[in-house]
Amino acid sequence: MIVFKTEKCKGCMQCVNACLFEGIKVDNRFPVLTDRCTGCEACINFCDEDAIVITGEKTKRKHDIDSYSGIWVIAEQRDGNIHNVTLELLGKAQELAKTRKSEVSAVIIGNELNGAVDKLIEHGADRVYISNAPFLAHYRTTPYVRVISDLIKKHKPEVVLLGATSIGRDLAPRLASNVRTGLTADCTGLKISSDGRLFQTKPAFGGNIMATIVTPEHRPQMSTVRPGVMRSAILAGRRGEVVNVEAKRHTTDDFVRIIHTIRKKKGKVDLEKAKIIVSGGRGLEAPSNFSMLNELANILSGEVGASRGAIEEGWVPESYQIGQTGKTVRPKLYIACGISGAIQHLAGMENSDFIIAINKDPNAPIFKTADLALVGDIKRIIPELISRLS
Ligand code: FAD
Repeated sequence: MIVFKTEKCKGCMQCVNACLFEGIKVDNRFPVLTDRCTGCEACINFCDEDAIVITGEKTKRKHDIDSYSGIWVIAEQRDGNIHNVTLELLGKAQELAKTRKSEVSAVIIGNELNGAVDKLIEHGADRVYISNAPFLAHYRTTPYVRVISDLIKKHKPEVVLLGATSIGRDLAPRLASNVRTGLTADCTGLKISSDGRLFQTKPAFGGNIMATIVTPEHRPQMSTVRPGVMRSAILAGRRGEVVNVEAKRHTTDDFVRIIHTIRKKKGKVDLEKAKIIVSGGRGLEAPSNFSMLNELANILSGEVGASRGAIEEGWVPESYQIGQTGKTVRPKLYIACGISGAIQHLAGMENSDFIIAINKDPNAPIFKTADLALVGDIKRIIPELISRLS
């Protein structure tokens, strides 16, 4: 437990300003803890007088889990455009809510977001908590954590889902710590039991095993989920409730300021959104053969991906990798060229709508997952395909 020694405290209030969570306030000239204290103990380092000490043993706090209900999705947006993973999570949230006979809520924070609300409702939100303010226009950890954790503490959702994107990976652990619960990061599967236990499946030990994790004693149950793993669904004509949430600015919000934004150059591989992917493996035999795949992908208006085999050979950069430790994709058409079909590769592409595999080995495991198998040498088959399609 954190204790302030008033006999030593000089009232400088360094600790109040240092706390990122508004966990300390001034009462009668001395600092006292608020219910926002996360117990992170960071304030101790800011006190030059040794007036902040830890006493007693750390106690394990359990939550009253029956008082939590509802499935929440923390929406991710940039300039008001909602990230696909949010829509995918809403699809999964609807499924979980059905089992639990509860409701789905989305939380969206930013500025000038009103167009986004309909999209969230259309994709499965029964309720949208929206916080619109100029200082929230761009993602910054401190204000986003504060606004969302206040909402979680107030409304007590049973499950909170975020995308395993760069924003989600920054936000989720801080939220979990702030509301004192666990987090399963980078999930590839989610199921819920009728009594509310969320089974969170994720690759563990470098992808060598799939672990299913539960959070038995704390709520909410929090997970981040990889983009492309879940399926989104549009439910036209849906109606939902909109709850406006007022967010107040705090001095700590400006610890990080956004000075300039550099947008990703167009033309870079965006495999997660691609409708058609032509993917190459070690069976391409040489880096120059990737130009055949580029040509085929261009004709089909698709993107080029790769197996780890091709990346290990140094033929294409890591950003092309599809699979358990690469990207998860769900295109309408996936063409696997010279890829054996190792389980780690399948984990990233097996949910594609239609899979064509080209391999010279008729017993290659990829053929068990493929909808269409072409047995033969890619150096013959791909030029033939190109000439017929162009
Ligand atoms: P290979 O297994 O060498 O297969 C090459 C295939 O090409 C063979 O089937 C062969 O018959 C065929 N071939 C050869 N020449 C020709 C030709 N001329 N014409 C037609 N066919 C030809 N892998 C991933 O892809 N993604 C991941 O995210 C990933 N994560 C991993 C995580 C862990 C923890 C581990 C242990 C492994 C991971 N792997 C991953 C590696 C995975 O196990 C395989 O080693 C890898 O997918 C093999 O790549 P490949 O199929 O290109 O190569």
